[in-house]
Amino acid sequence: MKVHHLNCATLCPYGGRLLSGSGSLSGPAKLVCHCLLVETPAGLVLVDSGLGLKDVDSPERTIGRQFLLFANPVRDPNETAVRQVEALGFSRDDVRHVVLTHCDLDHAGGIADFPKATVHVHATEQGAALHPQTRLERTRYVRAHFAHDPKWAVYRPKGEHWFGFEAVRDLDGLPPEILLVPLHGHTRGHSGVAVQTPGGWLLHAGDAYFHRLEMAPDRRRCPPLLDVFQRIVEIDGRARVKNQERLRALVRESSDEVRVFSAHDPVELERCRERAS
Ligand SMILES: [Zn+2]
Repeated sequence: MKVHHLNCATLCPYGGRLLSGSGSLSGPAKLVCHCLLVETPAGLVLVDSGLGLKDVDSPERTIGRQFLLFANPVRDPNETAVRQVEALGFSRDDVRHVVLTHCDLDHAGGIADFPKATVHVHATEQGAALHPQTRLERTRYVRAHFAHDPKWAVYRPKGEHWFGFEAVRDLDGLPPEILLVPLHGHTRGHSGVAVQTPGGWLLHAGDAYFHRLEMAPDRRRCPPLLDVFQRIVEIDGRARVKNQERLRALVRESSDEVRVFSAHDPVELERCRERAS
């Protein structure tokens, strides 16, 4: 299975190195939306989907002003998953499946560009996205992203494990090399997506953490504003912190077998690309 590491939206929030951990003190930071495009015998599988064409073309009608102001996205249609799929010589219909770490707007925006694809996600997360309970949930999920009534495939773990984590194996219609690994906390049903490749396992950890140094083996380090941001948008702080600790242990003990990365760290994306090429 060939895996492409894509950036399906660049976010440039103001916060300088307090957000990114390097560069100038003020000015925009740079965050990516790291997605995977996996070539499988069951067709193309997209893991997370970034922002979609409508989010880039008319964001006021989808992701909204608050996100535009805060996240300051680049709004380049060529960064959308559908345009990158086409640039690789495929058509949008070749993408049969999208597996989402969670349904936040910067992860689910692209699904509207693949209306025929099955969207795989944790059952709790789908419930939160379609029936948001709190003000935070009403802002983070965008109704327009689900307006095409996607073909959902939803899951809860049934006692299977992967490197000590609960896992969902055998996702509908997908090869056994792709697993859902619940990592709740950032959102109610947030999960990682594990992909077995000839070079070892990849774990797309979504927004379980944001900065590579949060996974440092000795102790967690995180730029201060990014730390505050994660607390503001968490749905369950205890679960989030515990899952970060478990991920750090996984990195410490099994980094020769599993490569863990988050959705938004540009340096992790570069390292993944270098290793894949
Ligand atoms: Zn995110």
